[in-house]
Amino acid sequence: MAFEGLADRLQGTIKKITGKGKVSEQDVKEMTREVRLALLEADVNFKVVKDLIKRIKERAIGQDVLEGLNPGQQVIKVVKEELTDLMGGEQSKIAVANKPPTVIMMVGLQGAGKTTTTGKLANNLRKNYNRNPMLVAADVYRPAAINQLETLGKQLDMPVFSQGTDANPVDIAKQAIEQAKEDHRDYVIIDTAGRLHVDEGLMDELQQIKDTVNPDEIFLVVDAMTGQDAVNVAESFDDQLDISGVVLTKLDGDTRGGAALSIKAVTGKPIKFAGMGEKLDQLEAFHPDRMASRILGMGDVLSLIEKAETQVDEKKAKEMEQKMRDMSFTFEDFLEQMSQVRNMGPLDEIMNMMPGANKMKGMKNMQLDEKQIDHVEAIIQSMTKEERVDPNIMNASRKKRIAKGSGTSVAQVNRLLKQFNEMKKMMKQMMGGKKGKKKGGLNL
Ligand code: GDP
Repeated sequence: MAFEGLADRLQGTIKKITGKGKVSEQDVKEMTREVRLALLEADVNFKVVKDLIKRIKERAIGQDVLEGLNPGQQVIKVVKEELTDLMGGEQSKIAVANKPPTVIMMVGLQGAGKTTTTGKLANNLRKNYNRNPMLVAADVYRPAAINQLETLGKQLDMPVFSQGTDANPVDIAKQAIEQAKEDHRDYVIIDTAGRLHVDEGLMDELQQIKDTVNPDEIFLVVDAMTGQDAVNVAESFDDQLDISGVVLTKLDGDTRGGAALSIKAVTGKPIKFAGMGEKLDQLEAFHPDRMASRILGMGDVLSLIEKAETQVDEKKAKEMEQKMRDMSFTFEDFLEQMSQVRNMGPLDEIMNMMPGANKMKGMKNMQLDEKQIDHVEAIIQSMTKEERVDPNIMNASRKKRIAKGSGTSVAQVNRLLKQFNEMKKMMKQMMGGKKGKKKGGLNL
């Protein structure tokens, strides 16, 4: 899986700081040290790491961050924003020529995945943008490359312009565009030759094709698994050809993420697509913010925080946090929390945005399904105020009354009581136990 190693490495660091109610300068320093090591281990360019850490420190130590409602989370937000910027910030778009066809030239070293990506890109353009591309076989040195593209064309039911291995690649490209105009094809994707290493002959040929067809995009295809080599290749190609973007292939197998994190910063050129597997539908638009979330193993926790911020008023949230800490959280509060969470949207969606959600979903007795939540709400509503504040007074006859009033069974009432106690324990753990102990709370 993409970024798995890096994400694993960062999990502990993230968890440590997210749980903090106060973040000191020392905390930030410790965190950035760990982030720095993790990124270097992930083969991110040294200078890129240095600049990034400097920016994170500057922002995270600023007072507006330290004074916030959730300082730990805000620090992580800074890290996430900086990682997003590092990868290009906004997702970049693909060019559309004023006058069709839009010409895309695919370049890259042999084995990077250029031919496969040519097919994937055509598929993507048709599927997601309703375009009708034509593929062009301009790698005349390897008959296998032409065959491969023709096979892809057949699979996609898309035309492949080819003149075999005897023609000149520049002529092929030129004629292909004429053909595309005649056939009303709106995109022409040219699969050019690759070599094992960057060499002058190859660059000259690519330059000639570029000068002749004046492409709207030059996409460099690089293999994510080659880490800093991919970054160096990107630098050479960009120096020679002034590429417009990068397609990072084999991200599915790249657990480290060094190339993904360095390319934009080193070359100034954005990663536009990521290859996530060998199949023709496994090409994804590259979203820097989603990638950053993935690296931090945060699910989409930031959109969750943002969502919560618009729903929950700060004073109440603080009160609630205090109640969770000192274990005075009651069924009354639970009911209120539930209605707030429900205002945020369907529970499944919310759960999916939470990091580690899969693990939580699997927790015994904690399954979240909307119907069950309806029952829970009904049970709590059938309790008296006293019972909500102090569930310990609940005896058999009270339970029976509540079950009847809520249209549930005594077993369901019992289950909820048990779950509520478990949840309180969990909350206490999540909020950090120390404070509670000092205050003489239950030592669970
Ligand atoms: P080219 O020499 O640059 O044209 O490379 P190919 O298109 O022939 O691809 C080389 C190998 O990489 C093939 O086995 C592809 O199936 C594989 N490949 C390409 N893109 C991806 C990707 O995103 N993920 C994975 N796992 N394999 C890929």
